[in-house]
Order: sequence, then C-alpha cells, then structure tokens
Amino acid sequence: MASTETQAGGHAGGAAADERVISVENPATGEVIGTVPDLSAEAVAELAARARAAQPAWEALGFEGRARVMLRAQKWLIDNAERVIRTIVSETGKTWEDAQTAEISYGAAAFGFWARHAEDYLADEKVRTSNLIAKGRRLVVRYKPLGLIGVIGPWNYPLTNSFGDCIPALMAGNAVILKPSEVTPLTSLLLAEGMRECGLPEDVLQVATGGGDTGRAVVDEVDMIMFTGSTRTGRLVARQAAERLIPCSLELGGKDAMIVLADADLERAANTAVWAGFMNGGQTCVSTERIYVEAPVYDEFVAKVTEKARRLRQGVPTGFGTVDVGAVTFPPQADIIESHVRDALDKGARALVGGRRREGPGRFFEPTVLVDVDHSMAAMTEETFGPMLPIMKVADAEEAIRLANDSPYGLAASVFSRDVARAEAIARRLEAGAVNVNDALLNYAVLELPMGGWKASGLGSRHGAGGIRKYCAQQAILVSRLHPRRDVHHFPYDARRSRLISRLFRLLYGRGRRD
Ligand code: NDP
Repeated sequence: MASTETQAGGHAGGAAADERVISVENPATGEVIGTVPDLSAEAVAELAARARAAQPAWEALGFEGRARVMLRAQKWLIDNAERVIRTIVSETGKTWEDAQTAEISYGAAAFGFWARHAEDYLADEKVRTSNLIAKGRRLVVRYKPLGLIGVIGPWNYPLTNSFGDCIPALMAGNAVILKPSEVTPLTSLLLAEGMRECGLPEDVLQVATGGGDTGRAVVDEVDMIMFTGSTRTGRLVARQAAERLIPCSLELGGKDAMIVLADADLERAANTAVWAGFMNGGQTCVSTERIYVEAPVYDEFVAKVTEKARRLRQGVPTGFGTVDVGAVTFPPQADIIESHVRDALDKGARALVGGRRREGPGRFFEPTVLVDVDHSMAAMTEETFGPMLPIMKVADAEEAIRLANDSPYGLAASVFSRDVARAEAIARRLEAGAVNVNDALLNYAVLELPMGGWKASGLGSRHGAGGIRKYCAQQAILVSRLHPRRDVHHFPYDARRSRLISRLFRLLYGRGRRD
C-alpha cells in the first residue's frame, strides 16, 4: 500500500495545508488507503511551467541518453514489481495476476520497446519525388517533440493505460503532465518516484492528481493531449483541444464482439471468452463484451463457458493465486453493470451464472453469463465494463457480422474458426480497429501493432510508429543544392515558356490509359 509520504513526494506541485484532498479507497475492502491533493488550475499551470523549463535539456539528451533512463526504469519495475503490484491491487481491487500480466508486463515491455525503437521511428525520412519541378532537391521529413504532452488516464489500468502513454511521449523528447484518474492516483505517483530514482531529470514528468477540473486544466496547458476513458469525456476533451487547436489522441469505450463459427475449436474459444470477458473484472477497454455463436455449436459453447465461469473464484485479492476475479474499481460502475443485467433479465434473458451484486464490504459483482439476449438490451449494445458475458445464438456468419457491426463502437473484436483464411476474411469485414483470429486482447500486448478505435471508440492510435510520431510535430524540409539562378516558374511570366510548360504537362500527364 502506498504511504502518504509517497503520494505527497510524487508530484512537484505539493499540496498546501488548506488545499482540497481526495481520499483513495481500496474497492475490495472499502478501506481508505490514502489521500492525494486535488490540484487547482493554478497548481497545474505551475507544474506546466516547470515541465516546460525542464524539457529542452531532456530533449538535448538525445535518444541514447533518454533510453538509458528508460532501461533503468525497466529494471526498476521488475525489481520493485511486488511493491507496484501491491499499490495497483490496493487502489483497483484487481487480482495480483491481472496486475502482473496486464500491467507489470506491459510496463516492462514498453520501457524496453520505446527505448529501442524510438530513434528508428523518429529518424529523418528521405523522400523522393516524381515532380519534375522539385527534382534534384533534398527532401526530408523530420520529427520534433511537441514540447509538453498531457496524458489523462482512466482507473482500470493505472500503469498500462495511464502511465504507459508517458513512456513514448518522454522517449520522443517531451516533458509530460500525467493526470491519473482520481480513483487510482497512487500507482502513477509511485512510478514517477521510480523514474526519478532511475535518473529522470526533475520536473520532466509531473503527476497532477485531481478530478475532472484538474483534467481540464491539463488540457489548457499542454501542446498535445493523450486521453483514455469514456466516449462522453473524450468528446469534451476533443472539443477543448479543438478550441486550443492542439492535437488530441483518444482511446475511448468499446463493446467488443467475439464471433464463434461452427468449425471453431470450442474449448479454446470458451477458455478465451471466459478470460477475455472476466480478466480484470471485465474492466478492460478491449474486454470481450458480447458473443455471437453459430447455431450448430451454440449449446456446446454455452455449456463450456458456463462450466468455466462457475469455477471462477471472486474475492479480496491477497496474493498470487488467491482469486480469479477482483472488485469493481469505480463506484458508479457497479450500478451500470447491475442496470445492464436487470434490463436484460426484464426483457427475457436468463443468467446461467451470477447476475447479482455481492454484499460488502468491498464492491463486487458476480461473474455473470447471460443467454437469450438480443440487441434490444443494453447488455448487448452499451459498454458494460464489468464481469458480464452475454452470448447470442446466430443463424450464420453473415448475421454475426451484421450484429457485430451494429454498434456505435469499433475498438476490437475476435473471430474463432479452424478455417483461418475465412476467419481473416471475416475480420476484414468487421468495423473495429483491431481484430484477433482465434485470440482475444492479445494484439494490445504487441507494441509493434497500432491500437486505435474506429467510430466512437477513438481517434488516432497508440503503439507502432504512429504511437510515438503523434507526440511530435512533423516537419518537411526541402533543400535546393544545385540550381539555376532563376527557375522556369519564376517571374517574369512569359507566354512562350508557359506554352512549352503546357506541352510538357501534356507529355507527362495527358496520355491517359491505353486500354
Ligand atoms: P472518464 O472518461 O470520465 O474519465 C477518464 C479520465 O478523464 C479521468 O482521469 C477523469 O478524471 C478525467 N476527466 C473527467 N472529466 C474530464 C474533463 N472534462 N476533462 C479532462 N479530463 C477529465 O471515465 P470514468 O472514469 O468516469 O469512466 C466512465 C466510463 O468510461 C466507464 O463506465 C467505462 O465505460 C469507460 N471507460 C473506458 C476506459 C477505456 O479504457 N477505454 C477506461 C475507463 C472507463 P477523474 O477520474 O478524476 O474524474
């Protein structure tokens, strides 16, 4: 559990004695485990000024110098894994395994990945042109860090989804202000402390704890904003970014579909469905949120999922292997899950497993499997973000594709079939930024692959080349080395020369297709 000293030492702003504070609760026990300052807009402006002052020296350190800090941080994270896991578990109520496999492993991999690849992704690119007028010029695209990046993160993955985005932003040479969710700020503070121990210069990374107003203040101060959270808040952030004409990258909600075809390996599909639906208590942006199964294998698939879901152990996580499904991290989320389940049951669905909120202490919702569901139910159309898996029978793949695409969201999806060519063809027809065949969630761990939502699931992407270039201004440079004193297009305009140019255009572009 993080101490109060750790929290206060974790950001440069500090809280005055009379400043408002936020209490941080352990969702699995209901205990208050610490407090953090609720920073005002003035305090955020002060952090931003310090970060901007520190940024040029950080950029001047170059890729190698910055990579050294990141690789030390990678080792620090592994050396301090248990302490970080305890902090994550204490403020999210997730299991130790969820903290290890989806947070520590992501963070450790990301430190190494960006340390090793940032320079390649951001190296000058030589460009060749077919435009005669520019022939002979040296053409280069280069990437320059924007300066100060704001990262606003959610509560479901305090390391992966909040702190994780700071790593490429920093590696690009920027300073960063991170605004973690007010529900889960302790992990960010601990990681900022770790980064300082690893030699990150003072003030380059600032953690601005606070609520929505603090988030708004961050957007007001930075040169680019990376936001992860709800579609509703994402729209507000995009609007504010538009007012300031700063770029924003948004990773928002999802209602990820899984399609199980009649020829699928049902054992694998069921194991994956249960894991992708219930890991992290279903509180993953790319959780499997709805399943469509072809009629011939529907009963067998449902039986397998039901049997596996019944065996899941839920409770207070006290170490590795103690429970499979943890708590509901965000207080209002339990009401959302309950309302989706109740709405489905009222409209004729059946809960084969779970279906109820558990009595306290702590905030838990039972792992729930729903059948007899359809698209009149919120459980099939709205983001539930909890341990609930609705399974729907479909006549064939065409119906599954139509229903999977019948959603405002388009974050990720998965298709199960032994015929991988057919499954990939179906994947290409799904309106989602990432599709896994015979897998789910795994694409998120592949840092070489872009991860970004379509439709109401976001703008831009993280990971891959685009996942670091977005933290930079792109500059095109054209250098004329060998040139006449006057180009053919310069003044004074001359009718004879213009007619010659017309003939040249006809020769170059006027021939059309021959067929
Ligand atoms: P929000 O989108 O409200 O919050 C995400 C982050 O934005 C938090 O740090 C929040 O601060 C901050 N914030 C809130 N208002 C503003 C604002 N106007 N300007 C800038 N920043 C702001 O998500 P919630 O935590 O409220 O979760 C709501 C829903 O979002 C969930 O039910 C779930 O469906 C979805 N969600 C999706 C996630 C994903 O990974 N795609 C992750 C988390 C939630 P604070 O927490 O202090 O209010």
